[in-house]
Amino acid sequence: MQAAKLRRYLRDVVLPYSPQYREMFRSHGLTADDFSSIDDLRKLPFTSKSDLLPTTEKPARFKDFIIAPEPSELARRPGTICRALLHGRAQVQKELGDEFRPRLILFTTGRAAEPLAFCLTQHDINNLAEAGRRVMDVCGARPEFRMINAFPFAPHLAFWLTHYAGTEFGVLVTSTGGGKVMGTEGNLRLVRKLIPDVIIGVPTFVYHLLHQAADEGLRCENLKKIVLGGEKVSDGLRHKLRDLAREVGASDVDVLSTYGFTEAKMAFAECPYPHDQSPSGYHLYPDMAIVEIVDPKSGEPLPSGSPGEIVFTPLDARGSAVLRYRTGDCTDGGLTYKPCPHCGRSVPRITGKISRVSEIREMNLDKLKGTLVDFNQLEHILDDAPHVGAWQLELRKLNNDPHEVDEIILHVQKSDGTDDDELSHGLRDRMFNHTEIHPNRVEFHNIEEMRRLQGVGVVMKEQKVVDHRPKNGEASGASPAKSNSSANGSNGQHKFVTSA
Ligand SMILES: [Zn+2]
Repeated sequence: MQAAKLRRYLRDVVLPYSPQYREMFRSHGLTADDFSSIDDLRKLPFTSKSDLLPTTEKPARFKDFIIAPEPSELARRPGTICRALLHGRAQVQKELGDEFRPRLILFTTGRAAEPLAFCLTQHDINNLAEAGRRVMDVCGARPEFRMINAFPFAPHLAFWLTHYAGTEFGVLVTSTGGGKVMGTEGNLRLVRKLIPDVIIGVPTFVYHLLHQAADEGLRCENLKKIVLGGEKVSDGLRHKLRDLAREVGASDVDVLSTYGFTEAKMAFAECPYPHDQSPSGYHLYPDMAIVEIVDPKSGEPLPSGSPGEIVFTPLDARGSAVLRYRTGDCTDGGLTYKPCPHCGRSVPRITGKISRVSEIREMNLDKLKGTLVDFNQLEHILDDAPHVGAWQLELRKLNNDPHEVDEIILHVQKSDGTDDDELSHGLRDRMFNHTEIHPNRVEFHNIEEMRRLQGVGVVMKEQKVVDHRPKNGEASGASPAKSNSSANGSNGQHKFVTSA
């Protein structure tokens, strides 16, 4: 079924109207009929984010990926002529406008990379709403639910998918815009008013929201689901959020994670699971997209159950469309086609922990003190650390001198009354055992100070890693850190020297 749908999509939509893929297929001698099974997808070269970035010759490369038929081409389609005869010319023109004219622009997210514009037509908005409806369905929502969308208000997928998810599924939804728009206090006011069954947002912000709710003695017994997106969700964080939910009177809350990205124009969700077991992964929509797992180095497609990089191909996208899109996200579990042990759905699932490779690169954090450090792993280690509520990793220069060595400071808000020295030692050991680096020092803060450090209510996305190193020091190339890393042949990476 997927192969037939792919063939039809390539033949009727992509090849006639996508400048990028028309040229790619032509130069590789491919036609839609070359794709008789999903395995044939490997004939098609990958598309990466770098293929969409502007170059000096082509400042607007992203436009080549927009499915943009000429009106005269559409008029010649046999289907167009039939529909015009049946329903009249005006109706057909409206339908074609809905299908192909961009109506909404979203931007890709990422800390350092340039945001890319992605166009959605009405056809895409309908699919976005359908994908959102399925997220609600998989998470176990019910029509009588009330939902707070606490994603930051921005032209990003998470906010808009959630908005449409709510209206399409048919719950009562209100969007706070996150911490920056209304502040934590404003969000809590709406929690008091709406008494939501579902809160959906970015993990760090939802943590602060619930923490403050608990501090203020707010009751929210209705709360049944906390749905998270935009950051990875560790087991430790799930525990902390369930504990906080209990403090506001909600005794049985599902903490569920979603995985989505702008280029897909959709997101996938976990289904509810018993809290003493593991989530079963992200439930895919095989009628809307093909997900492959490939070897991140060789690009070879891998069998089900193998860890690797997530590659995405839509089956019904208009507007901006990318085929065999390399997400840069790796899962350590791979794909499974077995029925879900928790909900019984038979759709494929992405299992395991997803690491956003792109973010490691962007943060230049992969090489610390000469050892390769997996930032995703570091994040899990700190999220799962006992007695730690919120944390932030800060990179500085010693004495704020651009020519000095780099320093790592771990800021911590304790979740209980554990002794500072004991926890400090524990955290340094924990970081060292897993990553072979340790922070120069651990600093403890109360929850208000932590909110200020993470920028809750100030920045768009709360910050778990901040880089306060002076920019000019890096550019001069005179710092010992820079010359060390150059000597190792690893340009652009920073050498950290940490004291014992
Ligand atoms: Zn399931």
